[in-house]
Parts: sequence; C-alpha cells; structure tokens
Amino acid sequence: MSTFQAPKGTYDLIPPESAKYLAVREAIAAPLKNSGYGYIETPGFENVELFSRGVGESTDIVSKEMYAFETKGGTKLALRPEGTASVLRAALQANLHKLGNLPVKLWYSGSYYRYERPQKGRYRHFSQVGAEAIGAEDPALDAELIILADQAYRTLGLSQFRILLNSLGDKECRPVYRDALQGFLRGLELDEDTRRRVEINPLRVLDDKRAVVQKQLVGAPLLRDYLCDACKAYHEEVRELLTAAGVAYQDDEKLVRGLDYYTRTTFEFVHDGLGSQSAVGGGGRYDGLSEMIGGPALPSVGWALGVDRTVLALEAEGIELELPATTSVFAVPLGEEARRVLFGLVTELRRAGVATDFSYAGKGLKGAMKSANRSGARYALVAGERDLAEGVVQLKDMQSGEQSPVALADAVDAIRERLA
Ligand code: ATP
Ligand code: MG
Repeated sequence: MSTFQAPKGTYDLIPPESAKYLAVREAIAAPLKNSGYGYIETPGFENVELFSRGVGESTDIVSKEMYAFETKGGTKLALRPEGTASVLRAALQANLHKLGNLPVKLWYSGSYYRYERPQKGRYRHFSQVGAEAIGAEDPALDAELIILADQAYRTLGLSQFRILLNSLGDKECRPVYRDALQGFLRGLELDEDTRRRVEINPLRVLDDKRAVVQKQLVGAPLLRDYLCDACKAYHEEVRELLTAAGVAYQDDEKLVRGLDYYTRTTFEFVHDGLGSQSAVGGGGRYDGLSEMIGGPALPSVGWALGVDRTVLALEAEGIELELPATTSVFAVPLGEEARRVLFGLVTELRRAGVATDFSYAGKGLKGAMKSANRSGARYALVAGERDLAEGVVQLKDMQSGEQSPVALADAVDAIRERLA
C-alpha cells in the first residue's frame, strides 16, 4: 500500500470490474448514437454561477454539495455537479441553436462531483451518461428520451426498474399551485429547515423522504389538479406515446426532482434492488433554463443516468455482462532469439487487429503459461530455438491443450483464420 488512499467518497475502477463500467457507458450511449444524438464534451469545471443560476440556489446540489473554489486569478469556479447546465452553456456558446436545425440533440459521458455523505451508491465522484434535446417543444422528444433510457437498461438485461412520471406544469400554472401548496405547508408541524424550504422552494418538500413529513402531506394539493390545459394535453400525449411504445410507467404526483429548472415532464428511473439509493437515473423538461443562464427561449428536455448505480443494479439482479475477451493470443518466447522474433510477430498480430499479449521479463515456460492462462487467451504462441531453426512457432489451443506447429511466415493469417 502507498502512503495515499483515494479520497473519502471516491473509489477506483480497477480491472476486471472496470470493464463493466465501460460496457454500461457503451450500452447507454448506443441507443443515443443510433437516434441522432451527437457527442459533446465540456470541461470538468465551470463558472460557479452557471450552476447557482441554472440548477438553483435553493437546491441541495448548489447549497450543500458543490465543490466551489477560487482560482489564483480570482475566478470563482465549481467542479461540475451535473451535466445539463454545462451542455446548454456549451451549445449556446457554439451557437448550435442558430444553425437552423432544432432540436440540437447531444449526449455526453463523464465524471461529476458532489460533496455528499458517502454511502453505498452515493459518492463524491461519480459517473453519468446523459442526453439533451435542445430547442424544441414536442412530446415525442420527451417520450423518445424515456424510451431510449428504457432500451439501454433492457439491453443490459435489467428488468427490476420502474419509471416514475410526473408533470411539474409551466410558468402559467405552476405559480398558482406553488401558492396553494405553500399555504397548505405553512399549516404543518415542520422543523426549522423544512419551514425555510416551504418559503424558498415548497415543491421540494413533497420530495422529503422522512416519515414525519410524508405523514403530514396526505391531503396536500396535487399539481395534477392545477395543470393548465396546455400542460395537461402535453402530458397526456407523452403518456400515450410511451404506452404505444410498450414502455410501462407509473404516475407519481410527488416526483419533483432536486433541480429547479424542470418544467412539465419529469421522470425518474428507480431500481428496486438498491435500497435507499434507488434512483438510477432521472430527467425532465427544462423550458426555462436557457433564459436563466442568459440565452434565448429554448424549450428542452434531457436525462442523466448514473453509471455507478447502474452497475450496482446489475449486481443486484445477478446479471453478468458478456464482456468480450480481452486477449486472444498470448505469446511465450523461450530464449533471447525467440523473444525478438515473437515480439515482432506480436506487433504484426496487433496491427492485424488480433488482441495479443506477450510474456515479458524473461519468465520461464511454467510462469509464462500461467500468465497465458490468466489472460483468458484462446491460443498460446510458443517458440524456442529449435522451432525458429525450423521456421515454425507452436500454436497451443488453451481449451483442448492441443499443440501444432505453424509456419512463421504465415502465422498471422493462420491465427486469424482459426480465430474467425
Ligand atoms: P438522489 O435522489 O439519489 O440524490 P439525484 O436526484 O441527486 O439523486 P440526479 O441529479 O438526477 O440525482 O442525477 C442523476 C443520476 O446520477 C442519479 O439517478 C444517480 O444514479 C446518479 N447520482 C447522482 N448523485 C450521485 C452520487 N452522489 N453518487 C452516485 N451516483 C449519483
Ligand atoms: Mg442527490
């Protein structure tokens, strides 16, 4: 062990488990790439105000969880706690919305940072894959994103997840509801922190998981009863499109999500095998966010799925992903001359696209064969001085144990043929 350890609330991805993370990212990205979403990458930190204005001053993310710091030059930055605000900022900066091809559809994958109390499924550094469709108001886009996330989870083999769906209304109907809810909440027995929340962001009180709070929320006014006709029709259309696509969901009137920028459609993917950190992903429509960060009106919708929790969900369901073998051929040289010749052959095989590894540091036959075994290679390629004198290398089938000589000159083709 070194003097140092990974910081609290973080962990390292190490082979072979790290392969699962790559596979999960790839599985989430695949349906997006197949549906017109282009890849975007933004910096790991941004101007802190992007998040305080975009995500919202009163949210947990901004008020408690942000890694904010000042640079030597006096600029106030924050490690990104989420992706949407950065992606929208980047799209606006590049004028993607002015190219006349709306919606702008983007996907991303990366690391996010939140100063949280570490526990299983909740880390200070975690990884998300996300998607945003910017600049169009169309219920088919909301449905598309939910369908693609569902497809991603299903291709991974997950089945014990549920989709929770709600509408948060828009700038017409939500304020009316907000007032009604605030009036109701002011009459409850709440602790000081929660009473403050009632004043700043009453909808988020609905999200409080504590039984003392939930008990009192029975009879609270429901947003559903306050939705304006336009929001109602929009939501109904999203629901119908999901149903037509065979994607099951549950209406959840208390789903408000932790971010201020959501309007209309909001949704969360929860997995029943994860205990209290059950949200594997979530998202929604954010029609007002662009204006909040100084841009034009650009109604948009998006989601982010947590890679760490998706891996935990796979484990909870006992799913072993079929990961491609990392090494097909493992070369074992016996002696100095063989080392040079086989190293050359290894390079040729790699250039021909065959996953090949090599026994380094002059290991003896026994140790080298152990490494070949451990590598999971289909074939071991063994050669000593006598083989080279005859112009051959020995190809050993690691499953059957059978060994046969192959002419060195056609070794690459012969091996490719056998692997095909
Ligand atoms: P939670 O309710 O669990 O705090 P959240 O609402 O803060 O989740 P989002 O901001 O919607 O989560 O982020 C989307 C996804 O990113 C979550 O569903 C989750 O899978 C993942 N995620 C969020 N925070 C963390 C974290 N601290 N550690 C690991 N994954 C996280
Ligand atoms: Mg959170």
